[in-house]
Amino acid sequence: MIVRAQPRARYAVIGNPIAHSRSPGIHAAFAAQTGEAIEYGTMLAPLDGFVASVERFISEGGAGLNVTLPFKEQACQWVRQRGGALSPRAQAAGAVNTLRFDTGEVLGDNTDGAGLVRDLQERHNVVLPGARVLLLGAGGAARGAAQAFLGCGVGTLLVANRTPARARQLVSELADQRASAISWSELGSVAAQLVIQATSAALTGGDLDLPAAVFAGRPFCYDMAYAPRSTPFLDQARQAGCQRCADGLGMLVEQAAESFLIWRGVRPQTEPVYRSLRAQLDAA
Ligand code: NAP
Repeated sequence: MIVRAQPRARYAVIGNPIAHSRSPGIHAAFAAQTGEAIEYGTMLAPLDGFVASVERFISEGGAGLNVTLPFKEQACQWVRQRGGALSPRAQAAGAVNTLRFDTGEVLGDNTDGAGLVRDLQERHNVVLPGARVLLLGAGGAARGAAQAFLGCGVGTLLVANRTPARARQLVSELADQRASAISWSELGSVAAQLVIQATSAALTGGDLDLPAAVFAGRPFCYDMAYAPRSTPFLDQARQAGCQRCADGLGMLVEQAAESFLIWRGVRPQTEPVYRSLRAQLDAA
């Protein structure tokens, strides 16, 4: 009797840059843990070639994609234009980080916010209901975070972005009186309890240029980025006396688990994968 191997469903993360991504290792660990037959790779799309890259992946039988910077907002627009379905949270965020193709229609979702909130609440014991939150950045990841924060009852959400019009646009789409856009020059007087670094400054080699006053009330400081030992934002926060700080490694694993659940119908356990990644980062 010939036993044929089960075909592996194909997934990938698409972005630019993409070489830094740890998503393939995370999804390989989830697949090993759950016994799901998948393969997961990386896809570098030209900055003007997101749609063509996704269409090619679909035509080759790909089952789903994660979308990373700078394409999350474009992915949301593309799902709309293609007549696909957006989850309520992707619609509210105006950004998509998870695409599914194997159901006969294109589905777009956003798991960033759920992953961030889960990491903050369950791994770092941050109390979100009623909190005064400062969100730095207004790109795809910040959009996912903003709608999730409002959904879990924060008291105030202040959004500051290098390009102020983008923060104002995000706040106007959120249409919630708890949310407001502030300028970079107002950052010194915000007195937030939680500061979320959601810019790509470290990844793109830019300088964030934050006034020390952002840290004056010793807020909990969270950097969506992660790096061996620390990040420039977390270094600045610690130097200013903030003792409660965390990087985005936990968010990375939690948002990946949400994507895996959408694609495979199984929620993997995140803690062993998080611990293994943390050990790898510490050893680097
Ligand atoms: P994006 O859509 O490309 O947005 C980039 C954001 O960074 C924009 O708000 C941009 O401001 C801002 N920015 C870039 N360089 C800056 C600088 N030098 N100073 C101030 N602001 C700057 O990217 P994204 O998808 O939102 O991702 C943002 C970051 O979050 C990335 O580092 C990404 O790796 C990280 N992330 C982590 C996770 C996780 O699971 N841990 C998940 C998602 C994203 P302008 O509007 O002015 O250009």
